[in-house]
Amino acid sequence: MQHTNFKMAEVKNISQSPGVQDTHQTYYHTGKVPDANSKSLQLIGILQSTLELEKILELFNDEINSIVPHAGLSCGNKEENYLVKFGEEARHRCSYQLILLDKNIGELIFYRNSKFTDKEIKQLETMIAALIYPLHNALLYKRAIEKAHRDPVTGVNNRAAMDSALIQEINHAKRHRTPLSLIVIDIDKFKQINDTYGHIAGDAILKRVAECMAESVRGSDIIYRYGGEEFVVVLRSTKKPGAKLLAERILKAVESTHYQYDDIDVQITASAGLAMIKKGDTVQSLLERSDKALYQAKERGRNCVVVAED
Ligand code: GH3
Ligand code: MG
Ligand code: MG
Repeated sequence: MQHTNFKMAEVKNISQSPGVQDTHQTYYHTGKVPDANSKSLQLIGILQSTLELEKILELFNDEINSIVPHAGLSCGNKEENYLVKFGEEARHRCSYQLILLDKNIGELIFYRNSKFTDKEIKQLETMIAALIYPLHNALLYKRAIEKAHRDPVTGVNNRAAMDSALIQEINHAKRHRTPLSLIVIDIDKFKQINDTYGHIAGDAILKRVAECMAESVRGSDIIYRYGGEEFVVVLRSTKKPGAKLLAERILKAVESTHYQYDDIDVQITASAGLAMIKKGDTVQSLLERSDKALYQAKERGRNCVVVAED
């Protein structure tokens, strides 16, 4: 077993049922350059070809499969908010807690219906040495991207995140011929709120409105701050009626939320425009149609949803 680059801290068999192999090992990476064999050196080269977490684990899984065939692999870390899985879970498992510079990088689990032999476990451990640094770098990259895509005032995704997500979502919808709807929401008479209570109060209210919208779409990933007090919700595989129901639910939630600043109750409503993707649409044309519908909602007296005509 090559332990030049890992110090094995703990090996325990946590098998619950007799005959089922379930080993869990914790490794502390000592930071030394791996004194690796040709296969693991080759793997380092392959894993360094990308910074995408999923891609790294996919490449790792493919390479390991040619050396130690297995039914499935999973790698995840709750604190870092990721979980990547390939293949299927099976009767036996070998898991590794990966630790670098005292930081928990993730738990890596291999699954198989037949037991892993000692020789195979040694092979897995040699290859894990090649995974640690690329995985660590991918996590740093993931964190940097998430930070760059987060709006500091409201905590939801920002315009940069929306631009890149929308390009991907439109391509996905075109490729798979699935619907895609987009809702633009704008807070009503927000200038008045700022003029009456000041900008700091305005910011606090804006944050609360964003929270309330994120709660009503069940998850903050699809909601973006598009501009000052404008938000966009991107709905994959959703046609107009479904999108309209959701837009109405969001506006209801905004209206019925209790906003308070310095013991003063503030009433907030918002208006929404929505459009569904059509042939030849680009990010700009889809946004333009939703924006036009939003404008009509404002004209109709606010606190309502308008669906764009095709
Ligand atoms: P309407 O119902 O037509 O949308 O009226 P409105 O007053 O909301 O629209 P308008 O576009 O005229 O003004 C938007 C205002 O939102 C301008 C600005 O005072 C406020 N605003 C935009 N971004 C922020 C922000 O980050 N913080 C605060 N406090 N206010 C903002
Ligand atoms: Mg407004
Ligand atoms: Mg506006």
